[in-house]
Amino acid sequence: MLDVLVVGAGLAGLTAARRLAQGGRRVRVLEAGETVGGRVRSREVEGFTLDAGYQVLFPAYPALRRNLDLAALDLVPLPSAAAVRRGKRVDVLGSPLSDPASLPATLGASALSFGDKLRVARLAARLLSPPAHTLLAGEDETTEDFLRAQGFSGAALDHFFRPFFGGVFLRRDLSTSARLFRYYFRMLMDGGAALPRRGMGEIPAQLAQGLEVRLGVRVTRLLPRGEYTTALTSAGEIDARQVIVATDPPGAAALLGEDVSRGSLGSTYLYYASSRALDDQPRLLLNGEEGLINNAAWLSRAVPGRAPQGQHLLVVTVLGLPDLGDDALDARVRGELSRWYGDASRELRSLGIERIPHAQFPQPPGYAATLPGHATRLPGVLLASEITSMSGIQGAMESGEKAAAILLGDLVALSRPRGA
Ligand SMILES: Cc1cc2nc3c(=O)[nH]c(=O)nc-3n(C[C@H](O)[C@H](O)[C@H](O)COP(=O)(O)OP(=O)(O)OC[C@H]3O[C@@H](n4cnc5c(N)ncnc54)[C@H](O)[C@@H]3O)c2cc1C
Repeated sequence: MLDVLVVGAGLAGLTAARRLAQGGRRVRVLEAGETVGGRVRSREVEGFTLDAGYQVLFPAYPALRRNLDLAALDLVPLPSAAAVRRGKRVDVLGSPLSDPASLPATLGASALSFGDKLRVARLAARLLSPPAHTLLAGEDETTEDFLRAQGFSGAALDHFFRPFFGGVFLRRDLSTSARLFRYYFRMLMDGGAALPRRGMGEIPAQLAQGLEVRLGVRVTRLLPRGEYTTALTSAGEIDARQVIVATDPPGAAALLGEDVSRGSLGSTYLYYASSRALDDQPRLLLNGEEGLINNAAWLSRAVPGRAPQGQHLLVVTVLGLPDLGDDALDARVRGELSRWYGDASRELRSLGIERIPHAQFPQPPGYAATLPGHATRLPGVLLASEITSMSGIQGAMESGEKAAAILLGDLVALSRPRGA
C-alpha cells in the first residue's frame, strides 16, 4: 500500500510529494489534467511559448530557493518596475538600485510627482530592513489605505499602484491586505522578477522529476477506512495510509466536504503575434488610464526565444472575466491598443484568449486569520494548497512543505513562519 497519495500536481502537491519522497515515503501523485503544474504551466502555440496567463516568478521567494535548483531554471531577469502608458505617452519608472540607467527617465516621468517618487524611495527604505516574513504580521488594512497613509497622491495610485499591483493581486482596487502588499514589494526589492527562459512550466517540471505522477486521473471521492483511506478515481480505487488533498481551493472544498474555499478571482489573457515589436519597451506596460487592459508585456522582448525567429509575442492582461464573447473582447482590446500603437496595432494577429476562473483567491485585510489549516474533518487526510497560506507560488510551495512536515514530523519546517 502507498504511504501517501497526493491529489493534484500543482506546486503545493508536487512540493509535498517531493519532500515526502526525500523523506523515504512511497508517494504517488494523481493529477486530473494532462500536465503537471496546475495554474503554473506553459504550452506551445505555433512556435510561441505561452504561459497560463501572464505570470512572473519572484526569485526571492524563500520556498522557491529551498525546493528548486534556480540555476537549472535558466531564469531571465525582467527589467525593473514598469512603463506607464497613457495613450501614446510612455513614462518609464525604473528602480535606481537595480537599474541605474533608468534613473534619468524615472526622474523625468510625469506619471509620478517628485513627491511621490520620494515617497516610493522612503517606503522602500522602510521595508528593506525587517526580516521579510515579519511584513506579513502587524497591522492590517487595505493597500489603498496604507498607501494613502504614506502620503501617496491619487495620481500615484491610479497611474502606478493600481495597474502594477492589479497585475500581482488580480484586482485593481487596491483592496488587498497591506501586509501582502508590503511582503511582495519586499520580494521585488530582494530579487526582482524573472521568467524561466523556456516557460513557467519548467518550475513544476523540475519539481516532478523522479516522482511517480499519474496524469489524467481525477479523484472523485475519499473514503476514510480507519487505518487507511480509499480514493475513488476515474482510473479505479487506490488505497493509501495518508492522503494529501492539493487541488485548487474549489476542488478541495468538493473533495473534503467542507468550506475551505475563500472565493475566486478570475483573469483573462489575450495573446498576440506580430512580425515586428510595436513597442521598444521591454518593461511591463501599465495602463495608466481607464480601460479593459490592466497591463501588457512584449514577452519576446524581455525573453527572446518565447517567439519564433522574426516574430514577437504580446500578452495582454484583462482583470476579471468580462462578459464578452471572444470577438467582442478582442475588438475592445484592439481598440485600446490602437490608442498606444495607432494603425500599427492592425498588424497584431490573435493567438488566442485564455479565461482563468480561479487564478487566485481574494485576500482582503485580515484574510490570514480566516484561512483553513492543514487538518481536515476526514481522518488521515491533510490539505496542502495556497489556501492555507497566501495566494501565490510562495504560499503554494510552503503549504506543500508544511503538509509533508506534518507526516514526517519535521519540526524545523513546522515551526517556520509564513513567508519565511
Ligand atoms: C494567471 C495567473 C497569474 C498568476 N500570477 C502569479 C504570480 O505572478 N506570482 C505568484 O506567486 N503567483 C501567481 N499566481 C498564483 C499561483 O500560480 C498559484 O497560487 C499556485 O500555482 C497555486 O498552486 P496550488 O498547487 O495551490 O494549486 P493549483 O495550481 O490550482 O493546482 C491544483 C491541481 O490539482 C488538480 N486537481 C484539481 N482537482 C483534482 C482532482 N479531483 N483530482 C486530481 N487532480 C485535481 C488540478 O488539475 C491542478 O493541477 C498566478 C496564477 C494565475 C492563474
